[in-house]
Amino acid sequence: MKIQEADAKGLLLAQGLPVPPWVVARTAAEARAAAERILATGAERVVVKAQVLVGGRGKAGGVKLAGSATEAEGAARQILGMDIKGITVRKVLVGEAADIVTEIYLGAVLDRAARRILLMGSAEGGVEIEQVAAERPEAIVRIHAHPFLGLLDWQARQMAFGLGLAAHRAAAVAIAKGLVRTMLAYDADLVEINPLAVVRTRAADGTESLALQCLDAKITIDDSALPRHPDLESLRDLDEEDPTDAAARAEGISFIKLDGTIGCMVNGAGLAMTTMDLVKRAGGEPANFLDIGGGARADRVAAAMRLILSDPKVEAILVNIFGGITRGDEVAHGLIEARGQQTREVPMVVRIVGTNAEEAARLLTEARFETATSLDEAAAKAVAAAQRTTPSGSPSRSPR
Ligand code: GDP
Ligand code: MN
Repeated sequence: MKIQEADAKGLLLAQGLPVPPWVVARTAAEARAAAERILATGAERVVVKAQVLVGGRGKAGGVKLAGSATEAEGAARQILGMDIKGITVRKVLVGEAADIVTEIYLGAVLDRAARRILLMGSAEGGVEIEQVAAERPEAIVRIHAHPFLGLLDWQARQMAFGLGLAAHRAAAVAIAKGLVRTMLAYDADLVEINPLAVVRTRAADGTESLALQCLDAKITIDDSALPRHPDLESLRDLDEEDPTDAAARAEGISFIKLDGTIGCMVNGAGLAMTTMDLVKRAGGEPANFLDIGGGARADRVAAAMRLILSDPKVEAILVNIFGGITRGDEVAHGLIEARGQQTREVPMVVRIVGTNAEEAARLLTEARFETATSLDEAAAKAVAAAQRTTPSGSPSRSPR
């Protein structure tokens, strides 16, 4: 689950990281009011930032500085409603603009191969880190946190020096350790601060000093760990959630949309993967991964069918059920019911084996479904059915 910058900053703040204060505004008037309050504290400028779950907002024009409340209102009016990478901006963050001296990248990810948290830093922050990684990998400092103890002091110091932050050693060490702590505290699979900035601050008496601040924050929470963090559920941004993903989650179905034309309805993640492999081997491309779960009843089967058919690219559906706890006849009833509600005619090939397979076969034959016994046969039939529904010569859909 991705969360918005403002919410990610809240989590960083809770872990003791230095994050400048912010306000979230949904209208230009709210942004103006927020800017007025911030400027009244003596700030010279405010920053107005699009809150969308994609990166590169700065480049897209979604980050603007403003020197007055009127300017901030104008910036918010421009940003709200803006389209950034296909997402409409519905809210902005308003905060005091930092006077940036240097931009640094600091991020942590789960390194599954090493089975540890990997902390990565680069003195070349602000820009896209993927580009730095591709062009100058040596410009990235990589440190694996200790699996039980988190980031150790000496490792954090190594990162601080690696980033050229000797002058801010204590603060950098605290931030590096806090970042890894944030990963662990919320079961995040990514925590990224880009930029972590050296900023110039001015005290009331006019004296200037330099400090480290987290000016951007990106956190993704491991979906599988969400049951351990019921409080984080409220940070899910329903505005930006794909309606298909939301429907799948509500039904308890694991569903991942892909680019192909063969819709797959399978019980069990392993069998779903195998089914996708066999669709490919038969010359087709799967349109989705779908694990309907154990003991799927008729209504869940119908819900899965709706999910598959919501993708207009789907030209045939392959149902592959291995009945254990799941009863074949129950699935057959679900398929018959689902076909009755179907808004679109799509050929379907059904293979049901295991518990109550004979009863399922009887029901499906009666209802004139195309069935298959072996998985290879089912995959071949589904691919052939998809080809029949498309005009020949369509290159993206012809078998390889
Ligand atoms: P992103 O483009 O989506 O990653 O959004 P960021 O929050 O990282 O902002 C993009 C860029 O805007 C940063 O790299 C900074 O150069 C600039 N920026 C963001 N916040 C401030 C700020 O408070 N003051 C100044 N001067 N620049 C900022
Ligand atoms: Mn950024």
